[in-house]
Parts: sequence; structure tokens; C-alpha cells
Amino acid sequence: MSNKRDFYEILGVSKSANAAEIKKAYRKLAIKFHPDKNPDDKEAEEKFKEAAEAYEVLSDDNKRARYDQFGHAGMGGAAGGGGGFGGGGMNMEDIFSQFGDIFGGGFGGFGGGQSRGPRRIKGSDLRIRVKLNLEEMVNGVEKKIKVKRFKQAEGATAKTCPTCQGSGQQVRVTNTMFGQMQTAATCGTCQGIGKVADHIPPGANNQGLIKTEETVEIKIPAGAREGIQLQVRGKGNDAPFDGIPGDLLVVIEEEEHDTLKRDGNNLHYDLYISIPDAVLGSSQEVPTVNGKVKIKIDKGTQSGKVLRLKGQGLADLNGYGKGDLFVHVNIWTPTSLTKDQEAFFEKMRDDSHFSPEPSKNEKSFFDRVRDMFQ
Ligand SMILES: [Zn+2]
Repeated sequence: MSNKRDFYEILGVSKSANAAEIKKAYRKLAIKFHPDKNPDDKEAEEKFKEAAEAYEVLSDDNKRARYDQFGHAGMGGAAGGGGGFGGGGMNMEDIFSQFGDIFGGGFGGFGGGQSRGPRRIKGSDLRIRVKLNLEEMVNGVEKKIKVKRFKQAEGATAKTCPTCQGSGQQVRVTNTMFGQMQTAATCGTCQGIGKVADHIPPGANNQGLIKTEETVEIKIPAGAREGIQLQVRGKGNDAPFDGIPGDLLVVIEEEEHDTLKRDGNNLHYDLYISIPDAVLGSSQEVPTVNGKVKIKIDKGTQSGKVLRLKGQGLADLNGYGKGDLFVHVNIWTPTSLTKDQEAFFEKMRDDSHFSPEPSKNEKSFFDRVRDMFQ
């Protein structure tokens, strides 16, 4: 027992030190010799325990009085019910349960073996909109986009925060009617990062970041749609002091196609053909997202007929195949004619071939629309 070091000596305080001084001294030692900071260091662990034991006695007025009178000899069985410190010192669990008093709630996570170090900060995300035409949405595309983002300035350096010594936590002491209360809070100087700027190059902000324009290559996969958001990792704003850069969020906007109208995965096209082409039959060109295709117009095609080009729509986002392209046939009625043409149509006015005779085969517009979506 007698080879135990003096408790005041362990904490490095005088015999007349007040409660606040003792607490402060212990806190310093506890941080210095904390097992999380000194992994596999037996000596540090012993010092850590020694300091905890000294604090356990000196922070309690009764125990401290007894210690002052009798020294270590007085601490044995006289310690009372717990019998904690007199014999073999304190166990780690006791020590950690002390931390609540010393550091406030902020250090609650200590016992679990993971230290509450400074928080690693993440840069903010950036959001941009990218317009895609139908071809690009169907086939996918690579775009080079200019993005204005905060970057760590060349030559910017950081140093350990002088307020919190890099812990990111600040212990505040407040006087209450119960005595002094200590609480740990996020350091106000560094916002918990544990670092502050040391050298700030010209043009950079007080976190060493500078706004720059950067060309970012974005790969947009096939099947993109209006409103879809893609994430490009690490291309948002840089975080100060080697934090994690934010992400670039790319929101897809759809550019309207000149002639193809999109409806879900399907496309619609209005085809206009002449009366002779409708009467005699013909071959017509139709635009698709992958270039033009030729389609056959049958002899005697009626206005309003809908032709379905299977698989010429957009790939389904959930993998349910592909949409179709619907070609709506419109017959163009001439608005001016030569005298001869007028005479021809006049002659046909009463011709039975020209009088409408919709059969059961001629479906109404509504029937066709219903069929289309079945
Ligand atoms: Zn700080």
C-alpha cells in the first residue's frame, strides 16, 4: 500500500486545490491517457486508472478528508460500502461511469471503444438540370457539363483548432446551485471539425475553399426519363480540410421532340398523306428515335387509321420490354385546286365509289384508342 503514489501528485495539483482545479486536472489526464488514444499501451492504461482512482477520492469531500488525515493507510476497509479504491484500484467500467460527471453527456460513447473524435465533414451537394432529347433518353448519352463548385484552394493549409485541440468538442463550465456543471458541446471555433484554416490563399474563403468552374463528364444510361435524378459521387462542393466532397445531383429534363410525342413508353406520330396516296397506296417515311423507317400505306387506307410499330418506343424503366410507336394516319385534303381537278372531283361527287360506307371493319376513333391500350 505504501508504494502508492500520492493522489495530489498523480493529478498534479496542490493540497489546497479546489474542486474545479481537481476536475480540470483529471480531465486533462483522462484525455491524455484514454485507452482509445493509446491502444495496447499498458503504461497509459495504468496511468489512466491511477488518475481515475485519485479523482474518485479527491472529488469526494468525505473521502478526501479521510485521505488527508490518514493517507493511503486510511483508505482500506474504511472506504465504506463500495470498498472500491482501497484495494486493487478501480475497474474500467467504474472509470467510464465517472465520465458522465466529468464531460457531460457528450462523451457517453467512450465505453464502447469508439472515440468521439472530431466529426468528418461532408461538402454540400450540388444540383443541376440536364435536358435530354428523345434519342438521348432512349440510347443513353455522355454529356460534358460545366459545374461551378467549391474546391480546396491550391496551397490552403489547416491546423489543429486552438479552442478544442482538435477534439471538436468544447467543455463548458456553468455555475448552478448544485455547483459547477460541465457539458461538452460542439466546438464553436471549428464547428466540430477539429481543424481551422492556417494559410488561406487569395480568393479562397475562410475555410480554404475557392469557387471554380469544372467540366464534369456525366454518363447518362439508356432509359433516363424526365424527373429522374442521377448521382455523381464527389463532384459536389469539396468539404474543408480534407473532408468528404459532396455529390453532384443531375436532374433529367425532357426536351420535347419536334414530331414524336411521348406517352409513357409509347410514342405517337401524326402522319399526313395525300388523297392519291390513301387511295392508291404508297410507301411513307416515319421518324423513330433511331432514324427514319419506311412503312407501307395500303390501298384504300382510311383517315384516322393507326399503325403500330412494335418496339419502336422507349425501353421500360422496370425492364418490362419496350414501348411502341403509333403512327396516326391523316389524309390531307387540298385547300386549292386547278380547274381540271375541281371538274374531276365534281364528277366524282355522285360516284358511288366516293360515297362513305363505313363497314363494321371501320372502327371508330374511340374503338381504336381502346384497342391501342389493351
Ligand atoms: Zn475546435
